[in-house]
Amino acid sequence: MADTKKRRKTTLKQKEKTGEKIVIPKIRKEKEWKLLYTKKAVEKVTEEYKGLCVNCAKRETCTISKPEGGIWRCEEYVQEVTIMAKPEGREKKPNLYQNVKKQFDKATKIMGLDPDICKILSMTTNEILVNFPVKMDNGRIEMFTGFRVQHNNVLGPYKGGLRFHPSVDLDEVRSLATWMTWKSAIIDIPLGGAKGGIQIDPTNYTKTEMERITRRFTFALGNNIGPDYDIPAPDVNTNAQIMAWILDTYLSTLPPNQRQCGIAVVTGKPIGLGGSLGRDKATGQGIVFSIEDWARYKNFNLKGSTYFVQGFGNVGSWTARLMKPHGAELIAVEDISGAIYNSKGIDPEELVHYAASHNSLVSGYPKAKSIDHETFMKTNADLFIPSALENQITAKTAPLLNVKLVAEGANGPTNPDGDAILQSKGIDLIPDILCNAGGVIVSYFEWLQNKRNESWDLDEVDIKLHKKIVEAHRRVRDTAKKYKTDWRTAAYIVALSRLEKVYKERGIFP
Ligand code: NAD
Repeated sequence: MADTKKRRKTTLKQKEKTGEKIVIPKIRKEKEWKLLYTKKAVEKVTEEYKGLCVNCAKRETCTISKPEGGIWRCEEYVQEVTIMAKPEGREKKPNLYQNVKKQFDKATKIMGLDPDICKILSMTTNEILVNFPVKMDNGRIEMFTGFRVQHNNVLGPYKGGLRFHPSVDLDEVRSLATWMTWKSAIIDIPLGGAKGGIQIDPTNYTKTEMERITRRFTFALGNNIGPDYDIPAPDVNTNAQIMAWILDTYLSTLPPNQRQCGIAVVTGKPIGLGGSLGRDKATGQGIVFSIEDWARYKNFNLKGSTYFVQGFGNVGSWTARLMKPHGAELIAVEDISGAIYNSKGIDPEELVHYAASHNSLVSGYPKAKSIDHETFMKTNADLFIPSALENQITAKTAPLLNVKLVAEGANGPTNPDGDAILQSKGIDLIPDILCNAGGVIVSYFEWLQNKRNESWDLDEVDIKLHKKIVEAHRRVRDTAKKYKTDWRTAAYIVALSRLEKVYKERGIFP
């Protein structure tokens, strides 16, 4: 018996090191669980995820931790357990709003923004924090913290995604809300900037719990959201289903004769509930249109080029799928479970199917080898498309990059130190507020369709999206030339100039 224990412990340790997936047949007794996962092994892979098991009815007695990237549940729930070693080389979460401020300060100095307008735009308008209780499947109550930050609505109603992630806090949401204001202004749509989220790891909750959490959060926000005031959309770990629950909860709080007018309260909802064709792929489609435009401008042939993607959720996977018709080869992918590489190419459609049956994770994909984070960042390719989270290209990781272009699918993947290094290395960059604007553009189209009781076909959505992206690229390129500056700063100048003009025309009340 002792030998068996030792053997299992050793195998587990080896697999942790390589990041290899560990599949365990159904576990029936908690005793057996403890036999397989010794305290030492658990400590090595968990760190931030220690806590009570939240999945089974016996939550007081199940003190089980969840490793990063792992699906770690108790014996009552799952048939298989996936454990991934914590990816090495990641940096601690820095203050994101500092990045926004540095980018903003650089642009305002170069363009000479009116100091009064500068004061207004350097602050958010409303910051809403709600703590709310939700009944779990076992009848117990848990408290949750949710946020909605509304940065600016001078151009139109507040607009921005909702993120469900453990890292969500005021600093993060404030930054993301501010970027949304710039984004709407660059692409010239009549919307403002907002962002929100709940500090939560959704993998710890059942579907029915997530529904109650989402509905109660919506109720707690009350009339801080609305179709003519603030319109949420999907972001990290939220999707059309979450939008459907928000819509239904919001409409239920309205008098019956106003409910039909309320469907534009969220975008990115299912088609049957008033969603737009093309919204699911919109951010990826916008990124691909952006890359195409850059390639045209640079006389770069995408056919036969290579690229790698960080994040394989909505944005990363759609971008990869839509790059395929251009003849570009995907050679590496990283997500929360680890990174994979194949110099001969990874088929995006096949990887989407693989992930769909493996808890949305790419690790373990049989037609690619597993690589560590540093090797992933060093991938020799033409393009890098970060589409996961912020602060991935920094002073530590930017020197590793060996590409011609960084196309920012995620919001804020490059911090100011990373930016400076990319520039010194001569790497082009399409900034997030331009590159990933396809999502908010088609959200705007969805909102318009709801308001006009229309339903556009996919071609119409794509043609209009393409036009918006190409026009925004032209404005940013022209501004970069005029001010002899980089594309991120130029994109800021385009946005700030538009906002400045509108403020000057409207004046300040009273
Ligand atoms: P998602 O939840 O669908 O996918 C996120 C992906 O990132 C997953 O594959 C996850 O495994 C991976 N990931 C998480 N942490 C990681 C880490 N530390 N290292 C590597 N990979 C990690 O989210 P999404 O909607 O695809 O959003 C991704 C990014 O794009 C975010 O920055 C989001 O703000 C931005 N964005 C999204 C939209 C949209 O329409 N969904 C629009 C504009 C911008």
